[in-house]
Amino acid sequence: MLAIPQTSPIFGHLTQFQEVIGPERTQKLREAADAINEILDGGTLWHINSTAAGGGVAEMLHTLLPLYGSLGVRARWMVVGGDTRFFTITKRLGARLYGDPGDGGPLGPAELDAYRNALSAVAAEMREILQPRDVLLLHDHQTAGLVDLLHKEVARIYWRCHVGVDEPNPCSEEAWDFLVPFMPEARGLMFSVDRFVPRRLREAHIEILPPFISPFSTKNVPLDPVAVHACLAHCGLREEAPGTAVTAPALRNPARLIADAPPPPGEPLITQVSRWDRLKDMEGVLGAFATQVEHGYLALVGPDPTGIPDDIEQGLWFDRCHAAWRALPPARRRRVGLLCLSMADLEENAVLVNAIQRASDVVVQKSLAEGFGLTVTEAMWKSRVVVASAVGGIREQITHGHDGLLVNDPQDLHAFGALLAALGRGDVDTDGMGARARQKVLRDFLPDREVITTARLLNATVEG
Ligand code: UDP
Repeated sequence: MLAIPQTSPIFGHLTQFQEVIGPERTQKLREAADAINEILDGGTLWHINSTAAGGGVAEMLHTLLPLYGSLGVRARWMVVGGDTRFFTITKRLGARLYGDPGDGGPLGPAELDAYRNALSAVAAEMREILQPRDVLLLHDHQTAGLVDLLHKEVARIYWRCHVGVDEPNPCSEEAWDFLVPFMPEARGLMFSVDRFVPRRLREAHIEILPPFISPFSTKNVPLDPVAVHACLAHCGLREEAPGTAVTAPALRNPARLIADAPPPPGEPLITQVSRWDRLKDMEGVLGAFATQVEHGYLALVGPDPTGIPDDIEQGLWFDRCHAAWRALPPARRRRVGLLCLSMADLEENAVLVNAIQRASDVVVQKSLAEGFGLTVTEAMWKSRVVVASAVGGIREQITHGHDGLLVNDPQDLHAFGALLAALGRGDVDTDGMGARARQKVLRDFLPDREVITTARLLNATVEG
């Protein structure tokens, strides 16, 4: 029910980070860490979420915990578990927070009971570990019920929400009906995007804190062109070049490319890397590309659904995309590939995603809704031109025409196709746009902001 994940000390060297953010920002980071330590007064800062691997929050915590360690802050991470019923309910809640009906099931008193019971069992285990001076930072709807159950056990408790909708609708309101009653004892709240804060929580103490990426994780470290080529060859997206195996990362798990032909050499590569999920709209990307873009090769990249049998939905959305690909006229289909990456080894998966993003001439993220969209941040960090829907956290990341390109209506295939076609014709200064994209991430979406904002929230909420 409860697990304490191991984090690698990849972010153990503050000096390495200082080279990226400079001495002034590093000084502010150290001051924030000191402020947190003062407030903790010997206690521990606990981050609590519901998965140790996969998903943006886990990705962040793998970076953040070692960073806190190198700053001398005692921070720890606990992962709460539950049974299938618990995760069916939390998945439903997650979809509704995005304004989507999800599986269409109820969120009534029976679901509330099941949710509360699952978290009560978790809270009993946590009480054995927690100390009165500890501070708890709970992530997302899977842990929200713990506010109520644990606030008397620790010094302070905060809740953080990474998902939401730009415009509330009956689905999102239903999710908030479920969650808001757990909130009164939270000392403060954090939201990734200001628009995600529901009206009824506006009175609480709120900090806006987007997620971040680690410049030193396998997914984001610089890769030399030989390694990039070898990774793409491994995926079937490039010809195997002689000698590359020597310098290539050791790749053991096969990637599955569904394609009639590999991209012709020199052809621009357009990619979207996403879970196979309705809200990521891989099928829409395929439609926009196939009907309107005359240049380049499109690769739709996601986890191999045969390797994630507990997530049947991804299999269904992949099958739909596969069927749409099969239905393309042969000349079009030759310019599109579906790539399934093994999730058996997450480091291997990360290096392949890194290489694919770096090799892409254009990165697409045509989401119908998006919490933040770390794939966008990752691609921007690699100075790629991103064409994305203007939804959720993507709007916080891209300024249209400056550091990326946005389509206002995510359903507008024509507008997506037109932007991709304009890029293909060379109508956009892609080098300048890519450079500005990287600057944006450097400025706003690296982990020092997380530590500084946490210190601010803790400081501003001294009184209970
Ligand atoms: N991702 C991955 N392999 C895949 C597909 C996605 O590692 O085959 C990663 C991607 O690089 C990103 C994360 O999964 O780090 C997805 O985060 P995002 O915020 O974009 O979307 P989410 O899946 O959390 O809705």
